[in-house]
Amino acid sequence: MGAEGLSLQNFNEALSRGVIAVSICSACGRQQVIPSVSCFSCGATQLQMKEHNGYGVIFSWVTCHYPFDAAWQAEVPYIVALVEIDGGGRVYGRLLDVPAGFRLRAELPVNLDASETAAKSYPVFRLRGK
Ligand SMILES: [Zn+2]
Repeated sequence: MGAEGLSLQNFNEALSRGVIAVSICSACGRQQVIPSVSCFSCGATQLQMKEHNGYGVIFSWVTCHYPFDAAWQAEVPYIVALVEIDGGGRVYGRLLDVPAGFRLRAELPVNLDASETAAKSYPVFRLRGK
C-alpha cells in the first residue's frame, strides 16, 4: 500500500528533465537512488520521491579509452564517475571538462550539469570550483 518507490521509469523521466530522482524513506529518512519499492535500511514501503540538487563528491572513476558505444567514438577518452550524492546513494555518470593533466581523486566535489543531463538522458557531472 502506498508504495511510492523510485522506479527505473521515473528515474529516467527525471534525467530527461536534467535532474536526479531519489526516494526518501518516510520511516527512517534514508535516501536511496536504486529503484526499489522498499527501504534498504528498514524495509518500510512508504517512500517519497524527491528531486536531488545534483551535488556530491567523486567516489570512484574510470577513464575509458575504448568507445563502448559507436556514437561515443569522438569522445574517447572520456571519464565515467561514480558519484556519492549529498544525503547518500551513488550515481554513475559522465564527468566533463577535466583539464588535461588534472589529478582526479576521491571526494572531489562535483555537481550535475542539468542541461547536459537532459540532452543526454544520463547523468553528466562537472567538477565544482574549477
Ligand atoms: Zn527506512
